[in-house]
Amino acid sequence: MFLGCHLSAAEGFRGLARDALSIGANVFQFFTRNPRGGAARPLDPADVSAFLQTARDHAFGPVLAHAPYTLNACSAKPEVRRFARDVFADDLVRMDSIPGNLYNFHPGSHVGQGVETGVAQIAEVLDETLRPDQSTTVLLETMSGKGSEVGGRFSEIRAVIVRVALGSRLGVCLDTCHVWDAGYDIVSDLDGVLREFDRTIGLDRLRAVHLNDSKNPLGSRKDRHARIGEGCIGLEALVRVVNHPLLRDLPFYLETPQDDLSGWAAEIALLRSRRSPDPRPARSAVADAAGKDAAGKQDA
Ligand code: FE
Ligand code: FE
Ligand code: ZN
Repeated sequence: MFLGCHLSAAEGFRGLARDALSIGANVFQFFTRNPRGGAARPLDPADVSAFLQTARDHAFGPVLAHAPYTLNACSAKPEVRRFARDVFADDLVRMDSIPGNLYNFHPGSHVGQGVETGVAQIAEVLDETLRPDQSTTVLLETMSGKGSEVGGRFSEIRAVIVRVALGSRLGVCLDTCHVWDAGYDIVSDLDGVLREFDRTIGLDRLRAVHLNDSKNPLGSRKDRHARIGEGCIGLEALVRVVNHPLLRDLPFYLETPQDDLSGWAAEIALLRSRRSPDPRPARSAVADAAGKDAAGKQDA
């Protein structure tokens, strides 16, 4: 299972990999720059290559970079939208140094302009920043819908994706706290929520999960994360999320309020201990059943 948490990038990629390994994580999320959107530190090629080696040695899953959450691609102020565009473009160039990874952002808040305008402005920023040659998949995060946030409904995420010319570079990150707060009942009807996601956006777009409990009840539109098992979603529902056949191969990133690494280490150990065996037949059994040479056909 690809499972990790949000980590501090203060000590570069080497620090991220070291901290991940120390808590039993094989994926992690980090901020590309300080959350308020200041200048990013120049990349250190030695740091990047040391990280890439560690990631290979330890079979890390996809690394998830998170855009500063203060950016707003659908602000009513053109200079604020331009700033979001400039940061996205710069972050995507930097992401090319760790190819094949994921870049997550909050779609934005339309601040009274209306969802339609918000969707159009977000798509415009993406049209200005996505490049056909990039290997990074850009993820829109599902939001709680607090205030004038765009992305609290799956249909709003879909509306952005279909408007973007390079939509093939886009995916979605599902945040369990946010969808719960937005009113999607992943506790008593996870299958129904996933069916709705599939009908509206398409499950092939789902590339990552933010695994959080919520301090508030279903539909509260609050966005206050809780530790795993200490909120209104609860441990058993989150265990069903990590074991669901449609979700279990995705990378899971905790964004729970912990004071130090030991808190995430405990959550990771707990969730790994509750991982169920893969219900699907092993790859070699499938190949045997098809009468093929299993050794020769394996692609992983
Ligand atoms: Fe986020
Ligand atoms: Fe999140
Ligand atoms: Zn949140």
